[in-house]
Amino acid sequence: MSPEQLCKEISQFDTLIVRSSTEVSRELFLATTGRLKTLSGWTDKSFTMLLELLKEAFPEGDTLPKSFYATRVLLKDLGLDHHKVDACPKDCSLYWKDTGDRDNCIVCHHPRYKQFEKEKIEAKKKQKKIPHKIVRFFPLIPSLQRLFMTAETASLMNWHAAG
Ligand SMILES: [Zn+2]
Repeated sequence: MSPEQLCKEISQFDTLIVRSSTEVSRELFLATTGRLKTLSGWTDKSFTMLLELLKEAFPEGDTLPKSFYATRVLLKDLGLDHHKVDACPKDCSLYWKDTGDRDNCIVCHHPRYKQFEKEKIEAKKKQKKIPHKIVRFFPLIPSLQRLFMTAETASLMNWHAAG
């Protein structure tokens, strides 16, 4: 690659970085990476390591939180964090709203929580209940609200609806 070509490549890369830093808000970036973490099973430590790498690689990354914990707090404040709901391991039902207090599946009556031998013996002792299955989901409405809070995005959405 000639020096001229290299300069051109670097210039295009710089333009890409500037464009991406203005077009993608910090909150949406964190919400998206937070979802990737949850859906892909990244550890808290690997997420923090990714943040550290981005901070070193891009000067704009310096506004990113320092750790996964700090990201989680921020996303919770914005209403963009995931929610957890217990579910039947056979995927019949969720323990949600009217069925939120049930101890067994409304369809197949499978117990909601794991039972251990020790628990059966010490049934009277209060122990932490462990559900058979937990489903994680991301509420759509706060994400849309965050999108429309950016004036530029809102005008693009209006154009799309009108056009
Ligand atoms: Zn069931």
